[in-house]
Amino acid sequence: MIEVEHLTKCYGDLKAVDDLSFRIEDGQVYGFLGPNGAGKSTTMNIMTGCLSATQGHVRIDGHDIFEEPNEAKRLIGYLPEQPPLYMSETPEEYLRFVGEAKGLRKEELDRQIQEVIEKIRIGDVRHRRISALSKGYRQRVGIAQALLGNPRVIILDEPTVGLDPLQIIEIRELIRQLGEAHTVILSSHILSEVQTICEKILIIAGGKLIAFDEPEKLEREMLSQGEILFTAEAAPEEVRQILSGVRGITSSEAEAGEDGYARARVKTDQKDIYGISRQLFFAFAAKNKALLEMSLKKANLEDIFIELTEGGAQEAAGAAQDGARPSGEADGAEKEADGE
Ligand code: ADP
Ligand code: MG
Repeated sequence: MIEVEHLTKCYGDLKAVDDLSFRIEDGQVYGFLGPNGAGKSTTMNIMTGCLSATQGHVRIDGHDIFEEPNEAKRLIGYLPEQPPLYMSETPEEYLRFVGEAKGLRKEELDRQIQEVIEKIRIGDVRHRRISALSKGYRQRVGIAQALLGNPRVIILDEPTVGLDPLQIIEIRELIRQLGEAHTVILSSHILSEVQTICEKILIIAGGKLIAFDEPEKLEREMLSQGEILFTAEAAPEEVRQILSGVRGITSSEAEAGEDGYARARVKTDQKDIYGISRQLFFAFAAKNKALLEMSLKKANLEDIFIELTEGGAQEAAGAAQDGARPSGEADGAEKEADGE
């Protein structure tokens, strides 16, 4: 189990991670979802003990990553955004090197290398130079090294970036399999990717946690927003009056068009958007007013994700400006960032 409490990372005035708190339970696949620059890699680097925090705590199974790094790191396997592969080595040589660094020796080292090679299916390239491997195979080698030492938690930073569609499918399948025996945390800026692989999604933007839930629940929440645009043979005041009798509308606007017909836009939080358009149709008909044109705009999950994360990013930009006023805390953060 991983506890992240009030984690903050400043680079000078920029808060790359801003008061993040969450808990990761054992045995599930988690997705860090957020646009580029959201703070995903920074968070993962701190969680894995590769980067210091400005404030806050990370505990892996109760072990503080800064105070008990050895105990904590033993529980984690990490594939960073840019895996440190040695191009002139073969996968097997590289895995031997990493395994030794993780403290594995002799038969145990041999056994684990054999095991991860089989599990990640890189047997056919084990003696080829890494420089000669495709990006998909290199990524597999990166995942294989994360698995050495059999850590409970596997953290993968954007594991499918730069892969072709077939390789993406293979890596996703591999991650799903890893999820059966490990807790997996992966980051991605692609909504559909985390939706298909992950059991829990953390949406991060501007260094802040914006949402944390199961994909289905997030989707339900996000999709319960839709819009209906229509043109009515009526004055804007009449439109407003008729709309006041329609249930399920969260907001509306109406104005007179140049042709004398009212243009209106209503928003609803009802899932059944056709139910609303049906109500509109009959409400106008009952007043003997014709609806000349009607179009439905169903909320698209990708659009909502962008809207959500842009909101967070703007907030963070505002916060960074606030933070520009003199403060001892910001100075300390800068020094620390220089030390990385
Ligand atoms: P993500 O992985 O979500 O794309 P990052 O964690 O890499 O985001 O970056 C978060 C923010 O922190 C970005 O604005 C990025 O430019 C900034 N950042 C990351 N690393 C550094 C660094 N070493 N020095 C200064 N700024 C950094
Ligand atoms: Mg990143």
